[in-house]
Amino acid sequence: MKRRIVIFDTTLRDGEQSPGASMNIEEKYMLAQQLARLGVDVIEAGFPASSQGDFEAVRLIAQKVKGPTIAALCRALPEDIDRGWEALQGGKNVRIHTFISTSDIHLKHQFRRTREEILEIAVAAVKRAKGYVENVEFSAMDASRTDIDYLCQVVEATIAAGATTVNIPDTVGYAQPAEFGAMIRTICERVPNVSRAVISVHCHNDLGLAVANSLAAVANGAGQVECTINGIGERAGNAALEEVVMALRTRPEVFDFADTGISAKEIYRSSRMVTDITGIQVQPNKAIVGANAFAHESGIHQHGLLADRSTYEIMDAEAVGAGESKLVLGKHSGRHAFERKVQEMGITLEPDQLLKAFARFKELADKKKEISDRDLESLIADETRAVHEIFHLDYMHVVGGSGIIPTASVRLLRDGQPIEEASLGVGSVDAIFTTIDRLVKVPHKLVDYVVKSVTGGTDALGEVTVRLTDDTGRIYLGRGASMDILDASARAYVQAINKLAYDHQVRAGRITPEQAEKRAHRKGKK
Ligand code: MN
Repeated sequence: MKRRIVIFDTTLRDGEQSPGASMNIEEKYMLAQQLARLGVDVIEAGFPASSQGDFEAVRLIAQKVKGPTIAALCRALPEDIDRGWEALQGGKNVRIHTFISTSDIHLKHQFRRTREEILEIAVAAVKRAKGYVENVEFSAMDASRTDIDYLCQVVEATIAAGATTVNIPDTVGYAQPAEFGAMIRTICERVPNVSRAVISVHCHNDLGLAVANSLAAVANGAGQVECTINGIGERAGNAALEEVVMALRTRPEVFDFADTGISAKEIYRSSRMVTDITGIQVQPNKAIVGANAFAHESGIHQHGLLADRSTYEIMDAEAVGAGESKLVLGKHSGRHAFERKVQEMGITLEPDQLLKAFARFKELADKKKEISDRDLESLIADETRAVHEIFHLDYMHVVGGSGIIPTASVRLLRDGQPIEEASLGVGSVDAIFTTIDRLVKVPHKLVDYVVKSVTGGTDALGEVTVRLTDDTGRIYLGRGASMDILDASARAYVQAINKLAYDHQVRAGRITPEQAEKRAHRKGKK
């Protein structure tokens, strides 16, 4: 039998700890559904004791997302574990993941405890979790800098206490592949009860070695890899899921034919969704999902490829869903064709979302002859972004050009009531944003503004991403897609403002978290 490697995705937990990557509950839910389509075995949905928002997100995902096991992270504290269980209970397939540091550096400076005390706390935490659920993971934080004899002792004791997975994290990204592989091998050989648990790894990318270290661990007996889409996460990030999965799939013989349950065709779309939600762009030369990952520039390479693709290609772009953007619909496609196409793409839309998306599609098809699947994804993402619309962009008129002062007039609907304003700007986008600011009167600062085209050609859809911040330092991301980048800019800006204004209402107590959750549940139905 092939070795089956468990893919533990922590995009929603460690990934969300990337600076500026915070996601709201609906975005987390949407991404969790995509992770289920991708075929990950475990989704770490959050850290329930860390915030009410994380708690709600874990609860929603544990109850609604079918397929993967849903894990909640908890420190090795009774109250954290109880809170974690509170969020998970009622879910069909759930795991408590508890952790504490084991390295002398952390013990001495952070915990001020002896090795014996830490061991006791770890065992007690696993036992408490085990009282709630069979599926328990224990992580020895900073394991790669932990004394190996002590680490083996911790692994043995936590397995004896009932841990079904024991994770060996390279928390600070310090390990080197050969050394880390040897460490995993030692644990697998030396811990007497190791066969009763899965040994897992969680590697950080501070030295650019997260994927290499994870693969070295798999080659030496690890049965679970913790990773994130696009490798996002704390500091330099985590091991990139897509790289780990495709390395195993491209070189099975090196890994004793180990494989994962990932549906590789969903990789590219998952990557785009994470970029879209977090606003963290993937570098063009990023392996597997970067814009240039399958592009060939050299004449010699192109010549070889024409003779036979295998001369310079080790993977097929189609296999990860990153192939040519296919033309799917045209001006004359009707609603049924549109609906069928959306279903084929694996996207579920509420009836009202479908209507709106179809209207946008017709508008686009009038201007652009052929609509590709990328266009469609972008447009649908625009219509289904989980945003509570406090302000709706109703009308916009912009005057710009050379030698004139850019002017914008904008009409928004606030709770259905029109409000209008006009103003000047140093540029067209500035004029639009200044006008919107005057209307919404919500204090904020623009942090980032990015324009990108979805496909090639001057008639391509433009995608605008806007990031705002408020006095709490939270980041609010807005995204808009349109044939006209001024229109896309206004859409993105209003969306980010809606998120910020909604969040302020929740925090001011004008909307309770329960109401917020109910709304999310309604959206989640289907
Ligand atoms: Mn981490």
